[in-house]
Amino acid sequence: MQSILIVEDEEAIARVLAAYLRKAGFHVTRAADGQSALEAFEEAPPSLVLLDIMLPEMDGFELLGLIRERSSCPVIMLTARDGIKDRLAGLDGGADDYMSKPFIPEEVIARVRAVLRRPSQWSDGSRKRHYGSLFIDFSARSVFLNGAEVSLSPRDMSVLLFLAERPNQICTRDQLLEHVWEMDYDGSDRAVDLSIKRLRQALSHWPGSEGEIRTLRGTGYQLWTT
Ligand code: CA
Repeated sequence: MQSILIVEDEEAIARVLAAYLRKAGFHVTRAADGQSALEAFEEAPPSLVLLDIMLPEMDGFELLGLIRERSSCPVIMLTARDGIKDRLAGLDGGADDYMSKPFIPEEVIARVRAVLRRPSQWSDGSRKRHYGSLFIDFSARSVFLNGAEVSLSPRDMSVLLFLAERPNQICTRDQLLEHVWEMDYDGSDRAVDLSIKRLRQALSHWPGSEGEIRTLRGTGYQLWTT
């Protein structure tokens, strides 16, 4: 049975999450602060951590750093603050996903399952990956092509990382809008298309034999790689 550690000091939220996760078939442990979370983590390393940012004493970012020193266990950040800055800080710190409150528990379950389904390419703890001559360091949010760093805007970087974490999988525009743009972003698909266009330009020297960002007409995009 896969186990989830919930780190959340708001009792009502933690209780609802725990109930839904148990109903979905997960083993659940709970911690209300960083110190007890670390103790729980070391006693029984979970399959995934749901980590609130606003915690007493040690905040979620600090705890994420301590978790990352120990393990590449997937972490989904729960945040009341809906700023892109927090999300980027979380992803910079090695979080695998984030959810903004208020969230519906069904969505949390879906995100947990999606993160757990990702290939375990992080099992060595490195969160770095080669796609031919393209090299991505997910934790550092840096991209190199033939050894030269590729300069990207934070948003284009997030789009690339999202696709690259799911090589050869189809990602819809809606998925990209939801994960990379604000949850409630009501702009057009055009923003995604423009970001993809800029990424293709930035990666124009990536040989097509090694990989490319493919358009799946009417569906979305895919980072195809050999
Ligand atoms: Ca909190």
